[in-house]
Amino acid sequence: MSSPKLSLLMKLIIITFLTGATSLGISLLLTTSGFEHLSGIIKPKSDGSKASHHKLMSADAQNISPATDQMNEVPKAFQGTIVYQAKLKANEKVIALTFDDGPGPKNTAQILEILKKNDIKATFFMVGEMVKYFPQVAKQVAVDGHVIGNHTWHHWYRHMNLATAASEIDRTAEIIYQTTGEKTNLFRPPGGFLNNGLVEYAKNEKYAVMMWSEESGDAERHSPQVPGLVKNVLKYAKPGAIVLMHDGGGNRSKSVKALPEMIATLKAQGYRFVTIPQLLEIQAQEKSIMKAETLRQSVN
Ligand SMILES: [Zn+2]
Repeated sequence: MSSPKLSLLMKLIIITFLTGATSLGISLLLTTSGFEHLSGIIKPKSDGSKASHHKLMSADAQNISPATDQMNEVPKAFQGTIVYQAKLKANEKVIALTFDDGPGPKNTAQILEILKKNDIKATFFMVGEMVKYFPQVAKQVAVDGHVIGNHTWHHWYRHMNLATAASEIDRTAEIIYQTTGEKTNLFRPPGGFLNNGLVEYAKNEKYAVMMWSEESGDAERHSPQVPGLVKNVLKYAKPGAIVLMHDGGGNRSKSVKALPEMIATLKAQGYRFVTIPQLLEIQAQEKSIMKAETLRQSVN
């Protein structure tokens, strides 16, 4: 039993194993270095802020019912795995912007405006509790054609038993679906913590656990000023990168200000912007082409 097919399979297994080991190393680094923001999610102070926010939203989001039964499914190969970036050919200049911790009362709408102006689709990892407080904003994200991912109900970092982890993720999936019509199998663990019970549950439920390859640093306690945020993102921009930014969890006016320049510079460098499912689909297709070529060569 030593057909070329089999030896290719063995190679793939070895590569998968090695990549998995590296990811584990990185994930341990991430969890120990205290990632993302350390502050909790800011809740709306009063109904007043809600009311003023509603005025900002366009009419079509006010009235839509969750019309679409949209499933932005990621390719099977990524379901139940942890992903930090797409592994693409060096000339495949695509990048995915992601926004966490919203929907928020003000900054989410501002970010949506900028994305619309640039004709860009992004991925928003929403907190269930925030979707409950700001359903119109969540709807607008979906109406604008962006992808929504699950970022738990409370944004807790602490260790959770199975029932709590299940509730954190399932309640959020439910409210995202009820509010926006989007079903999601994208999950991002709050703070990037991989070992507090949430990721274990998410993987069992076949979510793709989406980490990131670049952070703007916009949610750090002493986050950089606008030029620093731009610089952080541009510094490591590469094909297949996943950029972490925030539209919620505090005042994100700096992120809003930094976004147009980030987009303009990356566009000038030849990048186009895709959602996470699109990004993973591109990798899956590249891989299947490569596999077909390798098989053809081994047959010849
Ligand atoms: Zn978060």
